[in-house]
Amino acid sequence: MKLLEDKIREVGRVLPGDVLKVDTFLNHQVDPKLMAEMGKEFAKLFANDDITRIVTVESSGIAPAVMAGLYMDVPVVFARKHKSLTLTDDVYTSEVFSYTKQTSNQISIDKRFIKENDKLLIIDDFLANGQAVQGLLDIAKQANVDVNGIGIVIEKTYQKGHDLIAETGIHLESLAEIKSLEDGKVTFVND
Ligand code: 5GP
Repeated sequence: MKLLEDKIREVGRVLPGDVLKVDTFLNHQVDPKLMAEMGKEFAKLFANDDITRIVTVESSGIAPAVMAGLYMDVPVVFARKHKSLTLTDDVYTSEVFSYTKQTSNQISIDKRFIKENDKLLIIDDFLANGQAVQGLLDIAKQANVDVNGIGIVIEKTYQKGHDLIAETGIHLESLAEIKSLEDGKVTFVND
């Protein structure tokens, strides 16, 4: 998606540890117009996948997921990362190792928010080693529902996540595909 790639080129910063910082429009400050365009693009890319619900992980997946939900006309659920007193025992949980924090988090979704026969679209801000997506796939398995699509805002194609998802055969789409962050420079697959 050219608009997104241009924005990354303009404001993205490469940090040590193979991390791209995009807090100007996605991970801290949020650009609503860009989110809306991304939502439209996801809706187009997954138009034939019979999606009934979008799931993501708090917090940075929420903005793109909500916009996709708006244009696809389906509900959006975000997995919570911390144990909440208002979450009852009726939750699906999975253990996710965080790429940026290098710690393990439990993610949970209340069982009321995944329905029988749902066909899920997983959306996340980044795909690196695929741990966040795997946690959501694990929750879908516990709920016994299909995952018909995985939509990523920014994929680092050279990390492990891509192959992990490819093995599942699930329809994967990434709006920006990064080939390398070497020498502090962002290179896209289609550069
Ligand atoms: P994975 O679970 O695929 O290893 O990593 C994905 C998660 O880690 C994303 O939800 C995102 O929060 C974070 N992440 C991974 N790589 C990056 C990166 O280069 N920049 C930022 N800002 N977050 C990242």
